Amino acid sequence: MPTLYVVATPIGNLEDITLRAIRILKEVDLILCEDTRHTKRLLNHYEIKTPTQSYHQHSSEAKVKKIIEMLGEGKNLAMVSDAGTPGINDPGVMLLKEIVDQAGDVINIVSVPGPSAVIAALSVSGFPSHEFLYLGFLPHKKGRQTIFKSIDASETTIVLYESSHRILKTLEALSLILEPNRQFVVCRELTKMHETVYRGTSQIVIDALKNTSTKGEFVVIIAPQSWG
Ligand code: SAM
Repeated sequence: MPTLYVVATPIGNLEDITLRAIRILKEVDLILCEDTRHTKRLLNHYEIKTPTQSYHQHSSEAKVKKIIEMLGEGKNLAMVSDAGTPGINDPGVMLLKEIVDQAGDVINIVSVPGPSAVIAALSVSGFPSHEFLYLGFLPHKKGRQTIFKSIDASETTIVLYESSHRILKTLEALSLILEPNRQFVVCRELTKMHETVYRGTSQIVIDALKNTSTKGEFVVIIAPQSWG
């Protein structure tokens, strides 16, 4: 059966890629990328010369059809996103849904696991992880207050993604609703040059961010309300 490999790539440090991922990226007929220019840096680093093609959140029907045709011809493909595990909060999920719907029973869809920011952050948090709630990016408006209230009452570790221009806004909004001693871990630029892990109450983390930098990519982890 033709195979679509869903391949995790680094979230920063180019060394964070598995030997299997490198081999598969070299062996497949085509690599489907969220952004070909972005992925080229990784491919050049590992001297991977496989052709690439971009996909988008809403790839045209024609493009999806072409991809399914290639698989139907017996070609093996790999899918990567800009960073981390494809389909975890990135456009790969839409393409994958189309492929599963249209050809899921005639092709293999194989995971090639590796980094994901949510798991990397959780692994250094020191918070309970036997269960956790991953909320991705919070809505900017509709439903935001309701989510804040459920975070306030949560007995489960919560993991959020946040952008550099919203990180302070989100932490400040949470600090108005959550108990002042609720514990946070905020991971900035994991695996990169300016990697920093901030720990403490929302106010401690806010002050620390203001004193250092709010540039880069962030994962916010909030301990269960009865923790610590
Ligand atoms: N698919 C990716 C994964 O598996 O982690 C996530 C893609 S999502 C579009 C991008 C978000 O992930 C960023 O805005 C940030 O919240 C988080 N992220 C990605 N890389 C990160 C890093 N090196 N350090 C901290 N957060 C990161």
